[in-house]
Amino acid sequence: MRHPFFPVLPAVFLGLTSALTMIPAVQAAPLSAAQVYDHVRNDPVRLNMFLRAFPKGADLHNHLVGAIYAESMLDWAARDGLCVSLKEKRILDHACTHPGEGEIPAADVARHADTENALIDALSMRDFVPAPGDASGHDHFFATFARFGAIDDAHSGDMLAEARDRAARDHVTYLELMISPGIGGVIGAGFHHPLKDDDFAAAHQALAPEIPTLVQKSRAATDRMEAQARDVLKCGTPQAHPGCAVTVRYLFQTLRTLPPQAVYAQLDAGYATVKADPRFVGLNIVAPEDDPTAMRDYDLHMWMFHFLNGVTPGVKLSLHAGELTTGLVPTEGLRHHIRAAVEVAGASRIGHGVDVALEDDPTSLLAEMARRHVMVEVNLTSNDEILGIKGAAHPFALYRRAGVPMALSTDDEGVSRGDLTQEYVRAAQTYALSYADLKALSRAGLEYAFVPGESLWSDHQPGQFVSACRALPATSASCTTFLKSSEKARLQWGLEEQFGAFESAVTHEGLYQ
Ligand SMILES: [Zn+2]
Repeated sequence: MRHPFFPVLPAVFLGLTSALTMIPAVQAAPLSAAQVYDHVRNDPVRLNMFLRAFPKGADLHNHLVGAIYAESMLDWAARDGLCVSLKEKRILDHACTHPGEGEIPAADVARHADTENALIDALSMRDFVPAPGDASGHDHFFATFARFGAIDDAHSGDMLAEARDRAARDHVTYLELMISPGIGGVIGAGFHHPLKDDDFAAAHQALAPEIPTLVQKSRAATDRMEAQARDVLKCGTPQAHPGCAVTVRYLFQTLRTLPPQAVYAQLDAGYATVKADPRFVGLNIVAPEDDPTAMRDYDLHMWMFHFLNGVTPGVKLSLHAGELTTGLVPTEGLRHHIRAAVEVAGASRIGHGVDVALEDDPTSLLAEMARRHVMVEVNLTSNDEILGIKGAAHPFALYRRAGVPMALSTDDEGVSRGDLTQEYVRAAQTYALSYADLKALSRAGLEYAFVPGESLWSDHQPGQFVSACRALPATSASCTTFLKSSEKARLQWGLEEQFGAFESAVTHEGLYQ
C-alpha cells in the first residue's frame, strides 16, 4: 500500500530537513520544545496537555480485550439484548427475554445509576479499594476479563475501532494489538492430541493435518473483525474517523494457564498464522505468570518456543516475563523467567520485566539484553495496579542505567482506565525525564515494532540515518527508494514529521510560555 505522504515526498524532505537542521529558527522562538517541557513538567495540567499532543510512536503492549472501557462493553451488551448478573457483577452470555433471579437486561442498566456504577467498577479498576472478598488489585484486575468475556467475540470489530480511535486522539502512530482469533478451536485441537513430556515433534506431527483449517479460521475471524471496524470507523468515506489513519498489526496471543498440550497447540497454530498472514507480526504468551500452572510449566513453554523456532524460523516473539514480585510466588520462581525468555525462547521483546533485579546474576542479564537490543515494554500503571510496584521500586531506572531499550505501553488501558498519554505523564513525573528522554521512548516504540522493513536509523541509534537517507536532501532519490521498500521506515519518517510539527507548534503556544 502506498503511504499517503509519498506523492509529496520532496516537500516532506524539506520539511524534515528544516525540523532537524534549522535550529536558529527554533531558537528564535520564545522557548524551544525542550524548554517548554521543562517549564510545564511540574504543572500536571499543562504537562497533560503537552504530552497528549506529543507524538507517541507506538503502543506495542496492548491486549485488545483489555483496551476497552466498561461503558462500551455494557452498551454492546444492551444492544445485543443480553442479561447482566447483579450478584456476580458481570455480563451474561444469554439473551434476556426471561431474566433469572438477580439478573436484569443490560438495556436497563443505564436507568439505575447505582447499578451502572457498581458494574463499571467491577468491569475495571475504577475506584478499586481492597475490601473483604475483593482484597487484591491483582485478582480484581484479572477477574474483569471474565466479567465481560461474554461479548468479546461478537464485538471484536467495535473493540478494534475503539482502540484505533483512542490511539489517534492520543497521537499514537502504530498499534501492535494482542488478539486470539479462533483460539477456542485451537485449544480444542490441543486437547485431542496429548503431548507426552517434551516430545514436541510428535505433537507437531499429530496437529499438522488440522493446522491449515485452524489458521484459516483465525484469519477469517480477523477479516470479520477488520470489516466491522472499518464500518464503525467509516474508513474510506468523508466521515472517516481519525482511527482509520492508525497503522495496526497483531500479535497472536496464546494463554499460558492451560495444560501443556493446549499451550503447545496454540503456539504451533500461532507460528503457522504468523507465517500465513502478514497482519500477524509475532507471538505473545499471556495470562497471570504467577498462576500455579504457568509457574510449573514455564520452562516447558520456553522450550516449546525453542522447538518451533527451529521448525518455523523467523517468527518474532514478544513474551510476558518477569511480571512477578516477592511474595506473589516463592523466591525460587523469581530467578530466571526473563533470562529463559531471552536465551531459550529467543524473545526480542520482554513484556513487563519487573522482577529483573531478583533474577540470578541480573548484571549479566541486563548486559546481555542491552547488547542484543532486547527491548522492555514498560507498563507503569498496570505494574502498580497488579503488582503494587511503582516509583523507585520499579526497575525503570535500572534498565535505563544498563542501556536496555525501553518503550512505554498501556497493557490494558480500558481496564486501567487510562491511555498512552497517562503512561508518559506517569513516567515523566516519576523518573524526572527530559524532553530528549521522552523522544527516545517514543522513537523506541517504532524502532522495536515488529512491522516489517529496515529501520530508518542505523544501529538502533535514532538520529543516525541509514546510508540511503544520510545526505539529506541531496540524495532524496535514494531515500525515497529506501522508504518505498520499508514500512517501518515510513512510519518512522512520519513520526519525525510529527515531531517537527509538534515542536514548532508548542514553541508558539501562549499557554505554555
Ligand atoms: Zn500484558
